[in-house]
Amino acid sequence: MDLNSQAGLYLHVPFCRTKCPYCSFYSFPSTTQDIRRYLEAVQGQMCRWALFPEIESLSFATIFFGGGTPSILPVEALAQLLADLRLLFSFADGQPEITIEVNPGTIDAGGLKQLRRAGFNRLSIGVQSFNDPELQQLGRIHNGADAQATIASARRAGFDNCSFDLMYGLPGQTVDGWRETLDRALALAPVHLSMYELTVEAGTPFYMQAEQQHWALPAEDEVLAMMAVTETAVGRSGLTRYEISNYAVSGRECLHNCNYWQNGAYLGFGPGAVSAFGGGRRATVSDLSAFCRLLADGQPVWPEIEHLETEAAFRETVIMGLRMLSGVSVSALRQRFGLDLPTYYGQTLSLLLDQDVLIFQGDRLVLTGKGLLLANRVMAELV
Ligand code: SF4
Repeated sequence: MDLNSQAGLYLHVPFCRTKCPYCSFYSFPSTTQDIRRYLEAVQGQMCRWALFPEIESLSFATIFFGGGTPSILPVEALAQLLADLRLLFSFADGQPEITIEVNPGTIDAGGLKQLRRAGFNRLSIGVQSFNDPELQQLGRIHNGADAQATIASARRAGFDNCSFDLMYGLPGQTVDGWRETLDRALALAPVHLSMYELTVEAGTPFYMQAEQQHWALPAEDEVLAMMAVTETAVGRSGLTRYEISNYAVSGRECLHNCNYWQNGAYLGFGPGAVSAFGGGRRATVSDLSAFCRLLADGQPVWPEIEHLETEAAFRETVIMGLRMLSGVSVSALRQRFGLDLPTYYGQTLSLLLDQDVLIFQGDRLVLTGKGLLLANRVMAELV
């Protein structure tokens, strides 16, 4: 994706059938009235933004419907939102990547066919685990069989670009348990996998449960063993790791997320969505009522525009870019920010190179295998 000219569109759907106890995203169980208000407001937001001069000059290559659980909106409404986006904004030549997050148990075979016909061409399926007790503990509304059925229906509907989300490091999960989930996922021949370690965020019901019921997440060495299992199993399957938590068959990397990791421009619609363009970042209010009211009053739907200084934007681009296994290009950064990476980080970088967590590959700085395991610590040095 050429970041100088192409950008991403994101639509946040803040509704879920029930709230998973580990989740800290802005989402909640909706009423029919909530959905009606949301659709009206978000369509208004799209129309308004399409006229921004800074946005008119952008050309988009990807659309991503995320949440929340976008697949609990009526399919006709999803199709209409997509049609509106395609009408209101300019797209680069070629077919845009158009992803929708889908939870098993929220859409049937007919709905998936309608989504495909409406133009969605990529699914991100929230499988999380194939172990039913684990899914129950996570508060998911589906079981492993539902996930398998959704994947089969998606393929029959013509989706050949499906990603599965999986989670590891779950309470009570063993290395063998994780291996089983992974093997079942790989047996379904995915072209893309996103795998995230569970983190228990303060303020979530999971956080309180962990304290009250005294359960704990697997120990660090067990999590490291799960990561090692992942490397071996996925390595045999034809998928390549292209970002810290993401693996894909060549050509099926998620272009929308690659644009985020390269700190490209994007527009976010809906409450809780973030936009970054024209040197400013706008975080939309995470409150449906406030979002609707502000739009109705013709007011901005973000409390402030955050303008990053050149150096802060440079550092952020380095850190996000290092998440990708292709790393960052020193010459591209110099061209974009007028800063020379080796000079800028000086001694800090020399130390990280000496510690064998970063390495130069020609013009590119990348994390080593050791650096991938210690990524959080490396990023903290460069922030
Ligand atoms: S389905 Fe996803 S967004 Fe909704 S509550 Fe669960 S984790 Fe959060």
